[in-house]
Amino acid sequence: MKYYLYCPECKSSFNDAGFSFNCPSGCNSIIKTEYREQPAFRGSGIWRYSDYLPINSRIEYYEFPAILKSQEYSEMYGSEIYFILNGYVPDFNVRMRTCTFKELEVLASLKYSEKWRRDITLSSVGNTANAFIELGKYAENVHITLFIPEEITCCMFELERSENVTLVGVKGGYDFATNFARIFAQKNENVIYEGGGLNFARRDALATMAYAFVERFGFSPDFYVQSVGSGTGVIAFFDGMKRIGMNPPSVILSQNIPFIPIVEAWNKNLESVPYYDFDPVEKLYAKVLSNKRPLYNQRGGLKDILTETKGGALGITTEEAKIAGSEFKKIYGFELYPAAEVAMASLDKISIEGKKVLVNITGSGLDLLKKDYRVREIKFDYIVESEEDLEMIE
Ligand SMILES: [Zn+2]
Repeated sequence: MKYYLYCPECKSSFNDAGFSFNCPSGCNSIIKTEYREQPAFRGSGIWRYSDYLPINSRIEYYEFPAILKSQEYSEMYGSEIYFILNGYVPDFNVRMRTCTFKELEVLASLKYSEKWRRDITLSSVGNTANAFIELGKYAENVHITLFIPEEITCCMFELERSENVTLVGVKGGYDFATNFARIFAQKNENVIYEGGGLNFARRDALATMAYAFVERFGFSPDFYVQSVGSGTGVIAFFDGMKRIGMNPPSVILSQNIPFIPIVEAWNKNLESVPYYDFDPVEKLYAKVLSNKRPLYNQRGGLKDILTETKGGALGITTEEAKIAGSEFKKIYGFELYPAAEVAMASLDKISIEGKKVLVNITGSGLDLLKKDYRVREIKFDYIVESEEDLEMIE
Protein backbone atom coordinates (compact mmCIF):
# COMPACT_ATOMS: atom_id res chain seq x y z
CA MET A 1 0.00 0.00 0.00
CA LYS A 2 1.19 3.51 -0.69
CA TYR A 3 0.62 4.53 2.93
CA TYR A 4 0.76 3.17 6.43
CA LEU A 5 -0.97 4.33 9.57
CA TYR A 6 0.58 6.03 12.53
CA CYS A 7 -0.48 6.63 16.12
CA PRO A 8 0.79 10.01 17.38
CA GLU A 9 0.51 8.84 21.00
CA CYS A 10 2.54 5.61 21.16
CA LYS A 11 4.34 6.30 17.85
CA SER A 12 3.58 2.85 16.52
CA SER A 13 2.85 2.33 12.86
CA PHE A 14 0.65 -0.33 11.30
CA ASN A 15 -1.09 -1.28 8.08
CA ASP A 16 -4.62 -0.27 7.22
CA ALA A 17 -6.89 -3.29 7.47
CA GLY A 18 -9.91 -1.24 6.39
CA PHE A 19 -11.58 1.32 8.61
CA SER A 20 -8.69 1.12 11.11
CA PHE A 21 -9.46 4.31 12.98
CA ASN A 22 -8.17 3.29 16.41
CA CYS A 23 -4.68 2.52 17.65
CA PRO A 24 -4.21 -1.26 18.16
CA SER A 25 -2.77 -0.41 21.59
CA GLY A 26 -5.93 1.44 22.55
CA CYS A 27 -4.43 4.94 22.72
CA ASN A 28 -6.65 8.00 22.89
CA SER A 29 -5.32 9.37 19.61
CA ILE A 30 -6.20 10.36 16.08
CA ILE A 31 -4.75 7.86 13.64
CA LYS A 32 -2.92 9.52 10.75
CA THR A 33 -1.62 8.40 7.39
CA GLU A 34 2.02 8.47 6.32
CA TYR A 35 2.69 8.19 2.60
CA ARG A 36 5.73 6.23 1.49
CA GLU A 37 6.54 8.02 -1.76
CA GLN A 38 7.08 11.60 -2.80
CA PRO A 39 3.90 12.73 -4.55
CA ALA A 40 3.44 14.02 -8.06
CA PHE A 41 0.66 16.60 -8.14
CA ARG A 42 -1.06 16.58 -11.51
CA GLY A 43 -4.54 16.92 -12.96
CA SER A 44 -7.37 18.89 -11.41
CA GLY A 45 -9.84 18.85 -8.56
CA ILE A 46 -9.14 16.85 -5.45
CA TRP A 47 -7.64 14.13 -7.67
CA ARG A 48 -4.65 16.34 -8.34
CA TYR A 49 -3.51 15.18 -4.90
CA SER A 50 -4.35 11.49 -5.34
CA ASP A 51 -0.88 10.43 -4.20
CA TYR A 52 -1.83 11.83 -0.80
CA LEU A 53 -5.21 10.14 -0.58
CA PRO A 54 -5.62 6.62 0.89
CA ILE A 55 -7.63 5.44 -2.11
CA ASN A 56 -6.80 3.88 -5.47
CA SER A 57 -9.35 5.28 -7.87
CA ARG A 58 -11.14 8.48 -8.67
CA ILE A 59 -14.50 9.63 -9.94
CA GLU A 60 -15.35 12.02 -12.70
CA TYR A 61 -16.08 14.93 -10.45
CA TYR A 62 -13.53 17.71 -10.38
CA GLU A 63 -15.07 20.58 -8.41
CA PHE A 64 -12.69 22.18 -5.95
CA PRO A 65 -12.70 25.35 -3.83
CA ALA A 66 -11.33 28.60 -5.24
CA ILE A 67 -8.23 29.97 -3.57
CA LEU A 68 -7.79 33.71 -3.73
CA LYS A 69 -6.58 36.88 -2.12
CA SER A 70 -9.30 39.34 -1.17
CA GLN A 71 -8.31 42.89 -2.08
CA GLU A 72 -11.39 44.25 -0.34
CA TYR A 73 -10.80 42.55 2.99
CA SER A 74 -7.07 43.09 2.83
CA GLU A 75 -7.65 46.85 2.58
CA MET A 76 -10.30 46.78 5.27
CA TYR A 77 -8.03 45.09 7.81
CA GLY A 78 -4.64 46.41 6.73
CA SER A 79 -3.59 42.77 6.30
CA GLU A 80 -3.31 40.21 3.58
CA ILE A 81 -6.56 38.28 3.67
CA TYR A 82 -6.86 35.07 1.69
CA PHE A 83 -9.87 32.84 1.21
CA ILE A 84 -10.34 29.18 0.53
CA LEU A 85 -13.76 29.59 -1.02
CA ASN A 86 -15.90 26.47 -0.81
CA GLY A 87 -19.28 26.86 -2.43
CA TYR A 88 -21.20 27.41 -5.59
CA VAL A 89 -19.95 30.68 -7.05
CA PRO A 90 -19.57 30.49 -10.84
CA ASP A 91 -17.99 33.97 -10.98
CA PHE A 92 -15.06 32.56 -9.03
CA ASN A 93 -15.09 29.41 -11.12
CA VAL A 94 -16.14 27.28 -8.18
CA ARG A 95 -19.16 25.05 -8.64
CA MET A 96 -19.39 22.68 -5.72
CA ARG A 97 -22.97 21.52 -6.07
CA THR A 98 -23.50 20.85 -2.40
CA CYS A 99 -21.94 24.20 -1.51
CA THR A 100 -19.60 23.12 1.32
CA PHE A 101 -16.19 21.64 1.99
CA LYS A 102 -17.89 18.45 3.18
CA GLU A 103 -18.08 17.60 -0.49
CA LEU A 104 -14.33 16.91 -0.57
CA GLU A 105 -14.57 14.66 2.47
CA VAL A 106 -17.42 12.71 0.98
CA LEU A 107 -15.64 12.07 -2.32
CA ALA A 108 -12.76 10.45 -0.47
CA SER A 109 -14.98 8.63 2.00
CA LEU A 110 -16.98 7.05 -0.82
CA LYS A 111 -13.89 5.86 -2.62
CA TYR A 112 -12.39 4.56 0.62
CA SER A 113 -15.57 2.56 1.32
CA GLU A 114 -15.54 1.26 -2.23
CA LYS A 115 -11.94 0.13 -1.83
CA TRP A 116 -12.82 -1.93 1.24
CA ARG A 117 -16.19 -3.03 -0.18
CA ARG A 118 -18.22 -1.91 2.77
CA ASP A 119 -21.61 -0.31 3.08
CA ILE A 120 -21.47 2.63 5.44
CA THR A 121 -23.67 4.41 7.92
CA LEU A 122 -23.28 7.72 9.71
CA SER A 123 -25.15 10.62 11.25
CA SER A 124 -25.07 14.17 10.00
CA VAL A 125 -26.54 17.55 10.82
CA GLY A 126 -26.61 18.69 7.25
CA ASN A 127 -23.74 19.39 4.91
CA THR A 128 -22.17 15.96 5.04
CA ALA A 129 -25.53 14.35 4.39
CA ASN A 130 -26.22 16.72 1.49
CA ALA A 131 -22.94 15.70 -0.08
CA PHE A 132 -23.60 11.98 0.35
CA ILE A 133 -27.10 12.38 -1.09
CA GLU A 134 -25.75 14.07 -4.20
CA LEU A 135 -22.42 12.30 -4.70
CA GLY A 136 -23.22 8.79 -3.41
CA LYS A 137 -24.12 7.77 -6.95
CA TYR A 138 -20.47 7.95 -7.95
CA ALA A 139 -19.48 5.05 -5.65
CA GLU A 140 -19.87 1.53 -6.95
CA ASN A 141 -21.32 -1.17 -4.75
CA VAL A 142 -21.52 1.04 -1.67
CA HIS A 143 -24.80 1.66 0.10
CA ILE A 144 -25.05 4.64 2.43
CA THR A 145 -27.53 4.87 5.29
CA LEU A 146 -27.73 8.37 6.76
CA PHE A 147 -29.26 9.17 10.15
CA ILE A 148 -30.38 12.78 10.37
CA PRO A 149 -32.11 14.62 13.22
CA GLU A 150 -35.60 15.07 11.84
CA GLU A 151 -35.96 18.71 12.90
CA ILE A 152 -33.04 20.03 10.89
CA THR A 153 -34.38 19.54 7.40
CA CYS A 154 -34.18 23.32 7.04
CA CYS A 155 -30.45 23.00 6.26
CA MET A 156 -30.84 20.14 3.86
CA PHE A 157 -31.53 19.81 0.20
CA GLU A 158 -31.16 17.49 -2.71
CA LEU A 159 -30.63 18.08 -6.40
CA GLU A 160 -30.62 14.57 -7.75
CA ARG A 161 -30.84 11.92 -5.06
CA SER A 162 -28.43 9.02 -5.37
CA GLU A 163 -30.27 5.72 -5.40
CA ASN A 164 -27.75 4.03 -3.15
CA VAL A 165 -28.54 6.41 -0.27
CA THR A 166 -31.17 5.73 2.41
CA LEU A 167 -32.29 8.69 4.50
CA VAL A 168 -33.48 8.01 8.01
CA GLY A 169 -35.01 10.84 10.02
CA VAL A 170 -34.44 10.55 13.76
CA LYS A 171 -36.73 11.96 16.41
CA GLY A 172 -34.37 13.49 18.97
CA GLY A 173 -31.10 15.36 18.43
CA TYR A 174 -27.76 14.64 16.86
CA ASP A 175 -26.77 12.38 19.77
CA PHE A 176 -29.69 10.08 19.03
CA ALA A 177 -28.87 10.04 15.33
CA THR A 178 -25.24 9.09 16.01
CA ASN A 179 -26.26 6.41 18.45
CA PHE A 180 -28.71 4.88 15.97
CA ALA A 181 -26.07 4.86 13.23
CA ARG A 182 -23.71 2.94 15.52
CA ILE A 183 -26.39 0.43 16.50
CA PHE A 184 -27.41 0.02 12.87
CA ALA A 185 -23.80 -0.85 11.99
CA GLN A 186 -23.60 -3.39 14.83
CA LYS A 187 -26.76 -5.12 13.69
CA ASN A 188 -25.91 -5.36 9.99
CA GLU A 189 -22.93 -7.40 9.03
CA ASN A 190 -21.70 -5.61 5.93
CA VAL A 191 -22.44 -2.15 7.27
CA ILE A 192 -19.69 -0.24 9.04
CA TYR A 193 -19.77 3.04 10.93
CA GLU A 194 -18.10 5.53 8.63
CA GLY A 195 -15.94 7.11 11.32
CA GLY A 196 -16.61 10.83 10.78
CA GLY A 197 -13.57 12.93 11.61
CA LEU A 198 -11.63 9.87 12.71
CA ASN A 199 -11.79 8.63 9.12
CA PHE A 200 -8.38 9.63 7.73
CA ALA A 201 -9.67 9.43 4.16
CA ARG A 202 -11.89 12.38 4.98
CA ARG A 203 -9.14 14.35 6.68
CA ASP A 204 -6.67 13.71 3.89
CA ALA A 205 -9.30 14.98 1.46
CA LEU A 206 -9.55 18.24 3.39
CA ALA A 207 -5.77 18.49 3.59
CA THR A 208 -5.74 19.02 -0.18
CA MET A 209 -6.81 22.62 0.52
CA ALA A 210 -3.49 23.18 2.29
CA TYR A 211 -1.51 21.83 -0.67
CA ALA A 212 -3.57 23.91 -3.08
CA PHE A 213 -3.00 27.07 -1.08
CA VAL A 214 0.76 26.54 -0.98
CA GLU A 215 0.84 25.69 -4.68
CA ARG A 216 -1.02 28.91 -5.45
CA PHE A 217 0.76 31.32 -3.11
CA GLY A 218 3.96 29.57 -2.06
CA PHE A 219 3.91 30.28 1.68
CA SER A 220 2.18 29.29 4.88
CA PRO A 221 0.04 32.14 6.30
CA ASP A 222 0.44 33.60 9.79
CA PHE A 223 -3.11 32.67 10.76
CA TYR A 224 -5.60 30.05 9.65
CA VAL A 225 -9.20 30.92 10.61
CA GLN A 226 -12.06 28.43 10.56
CA SER A 227 -15.28 27.78 12.46
CA VAL A 228 -15.43 24.27 13.89
CA GLY A 229 -17.87 21.55 14.86
CA SER A 230 -15.77 18.40 15.11
CA GLY A 231 -12.51 20.16 14.20
CA THR A 232 -11.80 17.80 11.32
CA GLY A 233 -10.97 20.60 8.88
CA VAL A 234 -8.48 22.26 11.21
CA ILE A 235 -6.66 19.02 11.97
CA ALA A 236 -6.53 18.21 8.27
CA PHE A 237 -5.14 21.62 7.35
CA PHE A 238 -2.48 21.42 10.05
CA ASP A 239 -1.45 17.89 9.06
CA GLY A 240 -1.49 18.85 5.38
CA MET A 241 0.90 21.75 5.95
CA LYS A 242 3.28 19.49 7.87
CA ARG A 243 3.08 16.80 5.22
CA ILE A 244 4.42 19.18 2.59
CA GLY A 245 7.12 20.52 4.87
CA MET A 246 5.54 23.88 5.71
CA ASN A 247 5.36 25.50 9.11
CA PRO A 248 1.64 25.39 10.03
CA PRO A 249 -0.04 28.74 10.75
CA SER A 250 -1.39 29.80 14.10
CA VAL A 251 -4.89 28.31 14.21
CA ILE A 252 -7.82 30.54 15.18
CA LEU A 253 -10.98 28.53 15.55
CA SER A 254 -14.44 29.81 16.37
CA GLN A 255 -17.80 28.51 17.48
CA ASN A 256 -21.28 29.95 17.71
CA ILE A 257 -22.51 31.08 21.14
CA PRO A 258 -24.27 29.53 23.11
CA PHE A 259 -22.63 26.23 22.11
CA ILE A 260 -18.86 26.63 22.42
CA PRO A 261 -17.38 23.47 23.99
CA ILE A 262 -13.99 23.74 22.29
CA VAL A 263 -13.68 27.45 23.04
CA GLU A 264 -14.45 26.83 26.71
CA ALA A 265 -12.11 23.88 26.99
CA TRP A 266 -9.22 25.81 25.46
CA ASN A 267 -9.72 29.13 27.20
CA LYS A 268 -10.34 27.56 30.63
CA ASN A 269 -7.58 25.00 30.15
CA LEU A 270 -9.91 22.03 30.68
CA GLU A 271 -8.73 18.50 30.04
CA SER A 272 -11.72 17.74 27.83
CA VAL A 273 -14.71 19.60 26.40
CA PRO A 274 -17.51 20.42 28.86
CA TYR A 275 -20.89 18.73 28.57
CA TYR A 276 -23.86 20.84 27.49
CA ASP A 277 -27.21 19.48 28.55
CA PHE A 278 -29.21 21.12 25.76
CA ASP A 279 -29.52 20.05 22.15
CA PRO A 280 -27.35 22.55 20.23
CA VAL A 281 -29.16 21.86 16.98
CA GLU A 282 -32.25 23.51 18.45
CA LYS A 283 -30.44 26.62 19.68
CA LEU A 284 -27.71 27.32 17.18
CA TYR A 285 -27.77 29.69 14.25
CA ALA A 286 -24.83 27.85 12.67
CA LYS A 287 -26.37 24.41 13.25
CA VAL A 288 -23.53 22.45 11.71
CA LEU A 289 -21.28 23.58 14.57
CA SER A 290 -23.16 21.37 17.01
CA ASN A 291 -20.80 18.44 17.56
CA LYS A 292 -20.73 17.40 21.22
CA ARG A 293 -17.73 15.13 20.78
CA PRO A 294 -15.14 17.13 18.86
CA LEU A 295 -11.64 15.81 18.25
CA TYR A 296 -10.20 17.85 21.09
CA ASN A 297 -8.13 16.01 23.65
CA GLN A 298 -7.04 13.00 21.64
CA ARG A 299 -3.32 13.02 20.85
CA GLY A 300 -2.99 14.81 17.51
CA GLY A 301 -6.28 16.65 18.00
CA LEU A 302 -7.29 20.28 18.42
CA LYS A 303 -5.75 20.79 21.84
CA ASP A 304 -2.34 19.67 20.62
CA ILE A 305 -2.66 21.82 17.52
CA LEU A 306 -3.73 24.95 19.40
CA THR A 307 -0.82 24.41 21.78
CA GLU A 308 1.76 23.84 19.06
CA THR A 309 0.64 26.75 16.89
CA LYS A 310 -0.04 29.13 19.80
CA GLY A 311 -3.56 29.41 18.47
CA GLY A 312 -6.79 30.78 19.87
CA ALA A 313 -10.48 29.93 20.21
CA LEU A 314 -13.34 32.45 19.92
CA GLY A 315 -17.03 32.47 20.74
CA ILE A 316 -19.05 34.39 18.17
CA THR A 317 -22.60 35.58 18.78
CA THR A 318 -25.27 35.03 16.18
CA GLU A 319 -25.58 38.76 15.73
CA GLU A 320 -21.85 39.14 15.07
CA ALA A 321 -22.02 36.31 12.56
CA LYS A 322 -24.96 37.85 10.70
CA ILE A 323 -23.28 41.25 10.53
CA ALA A 324 -20.15 39.65 9.07
CA GLY A 325 -22.33 37.75 6.60
CA SER A 326 -24.18 40.82 5.36
CA GLU A 327 -20.91 42.74 5.05
CA PHE A 328 -19.56 39.92 2.90
CA LYS A 329 -22.67 39.85 0.76
CA LYS A 330 -22.46 43.60 0.23
CA ILE A 331 -18.94 43.18 -1.14
CA TYR A 332 -19.23 39.95 -3.10
CA GLY A 333 -22.94 39.61 -3.86
CA PHE A 334 -23.57 36.10 -2.58
CA GLU A 335 -24.40 34.48 0.72
CA LEU A 336 -22.18 32.65 3.15
CA TYR A 337 -23.38 29.68 5.13
CA PRO A 338 -23.89 30.60 8.81
CA ALA A 339 -20.77 28.66 9.83
CA ALA A 340 -18.69 30.67 7.36
CA GLU A 341 -20.20 33.88 8.76
CA VAL A 342 -18.96 32.77 12.19
CA ALA A 343 -15.45 32.40 10.75
CA MET A 344 -15.58 35.82 9.05
CA ALA A 345 -16.76 37.47 12.28
CA SER A 346 -13.58 36.17 13.93
CA LEU A 347 -11.48 38.65 11.94
CA ASP A 348 -12.76 41.48 14.13
CA LYS A 349 -11.56 39.76 17.28
CA ILE A 350 -7.90 39.11 16.61
CA SER A 351 -5.10 41.50 15.89
CA ILE A 352 -4.07 40.77 12.35
CA GLU A 353 -2.66 44.04 11.11
CA GLY A 354 0.18 43.42 8.70
CA LYS A 355 -0.33 39.66 8.89
CA LYS A 356 -1.18 37.05 6.29
CA VAL A 357 -4.51 35.54 7.24
CA LEU A 358 -6.25 32.63 5.54
CA VAL A 359 -9.97 32.17 6.19
CA ASN A 360 -11.55 28.89 5.22
CA ILE A 361 -15.00 29.77 3.91
CA THR A 362 -16.45 26.35 4.51
CA GLY A 363 -19.72 26.93 2.69
CA SER A 364 -21.33 29.54 0.44
CA GLY A 365 -23.44 30.27 -2.59
CA LEU A 366 -26.62 28.33 -1.91
CA ASP A 367 -28.49 31.43 -3.10
CA LEU A 368 -26.67 31.20 -6.44
CA LEU A 369 -27.15 27.45 -6.71
CA LYS A 370 -30.90 27.93 -6.36
CA LYS A 371 -30.88 30.13 -9.44
CA ASP A 372 -29.18 27.48 -11.58
CA TYR A 373 -30.64 24.24 -10.20
CA ARG A 374 -33.91 22.94 -8.92
CA VAL A 375 -33.16 22.53 -5.23
CA ARG A 376 -35.64 20.31 -3.41
CA GLU A 377 -36.31 19.60 0.23
CA ILE A 378 -35.20 16.14 1.23
CA LYS A 379 -37.68 13.33 1.85
CA PHE A 380 -36.94 10.73 4.48
CA ASP A 381 -37.29 7.06 3.60
CA TYR A 382 -37.90 6.20 7.25
CA ILE A 383 -38.54 7.98 10.51
CA VAL A 384 -37.27 6.23 13.63
CA GLU A 385 -37.53 6.96 17.31
CA SER A 386 -36.48 3.73 19.01
CA GLU A 387 -33.98 0.95 18.52
CA GLU A 388 -36.78 -1.42 17.48
CA ASP A 389 -37.64 0.92 14.62
CA LEU A 390 -34.23 0.18 13.05
CA GLU A 391 -35.51 -3.30 12.15
CA MET A 392 -37.67 -1.86 9.38
CA ILE A 393 -34.75 -0.25 7.51
CA GLU A 394 -33.80 -2.25 4.45
ZN1 LIG B 1 -1.07 4.21 20.02
